[in-house]
Amino acid sequence: MSVILENITKSFNKQKVLDNLNLEVKKGEFHVILGPSGEGKSTLLSIISGLIKPDAGKILIDGDIVNDLPPQKRGIGFVFQDFALFPHLTVFENVAYGLKIRSLSNKEIEDKVTFYLEMVGLEKHKDKFPSELSGGQKQRVALARALVIEPKVLLLDEPLSHVDAWQREKLREDLKTIQQKTGITTIYVTHDRLEAILLADKVSVLHQGRIEQTEPPKEIFYQPKTSFVARFVGATN
Ligand code: ADP
Ligand code: MG
Repeated sequence: MSVILENITKSFNKQKVLDNLNLEVKKGEFHVILGPSGEGKSTLLSIISGLIKPDAGKILIDGDIVNDLPPQKRGIGFVFQDFALFPHLTVFENVAYGLKIRSLSNKEIEDKVTFYLEMVGLEKHKDKFPSELSGGQKQRVALARALVIEPKVLLLDEPLSHVDAWQREKLREDLKTIQQKTGITTIYVTHDRLEAILLADKVSVLHQGRIEQTEPPKEIFYQPKTSFVARFVGATN
């Protein structure tokens, strides 16, 4: 499903974090929002998901204005930087959590959870607790938990930043494969240029509360349109 943001503005105290921001994410796209830390990337995802209200502007998901819809009615899956798993629940129960509040039979829950645990490669670890997992495995649980509700849009907030270097590459590749397999519209925020190049269909560069350029990674890196984009991506022209 498509996501369109129109003139999104958000301040905290007197500090304007997002300033008339416009963004269009097409159906099925892997869209990376790239920007240095403190530029408002997490705030932007929270606004799309409904966890934070914008001061002004519209959020459209598949053409419908969702500003007044609560997070659970927006059809969004969210993967946080720090996993945010329930420590007292097993891997299976963490993934099942979002399904328990719906009226599904135990068999349906079992089938769906198993399907998504297999997709992220954690079937064998379903009875473990989060404390028994590595960072990469925790993030796989978080991904399965986000996908199991079969959301229209998947939001990922720097999902590799707390994952050990040796697991990062594999998880990055698996994220790309899973996105392609499911075809889910994905918005992925990061400060890491390599992740943007390797993952994105389109990259949007965030600076001073606005999107400065949206283009496939090659164009962003070889034909930066503003001096900020050029400096940030390290291009020379
Ligand atoms: P990023 O994810 O790009 O690092 P954030 O969206 O976390 O950026 O933060 C952008 C700016 O907004 C920062 O200056 C941060 O301090 C501020 N900010 C974010 N959330 C809040 C909040 N709940 N209250 C006050 N200031 C906030
Ligand atoms: Mg952030």
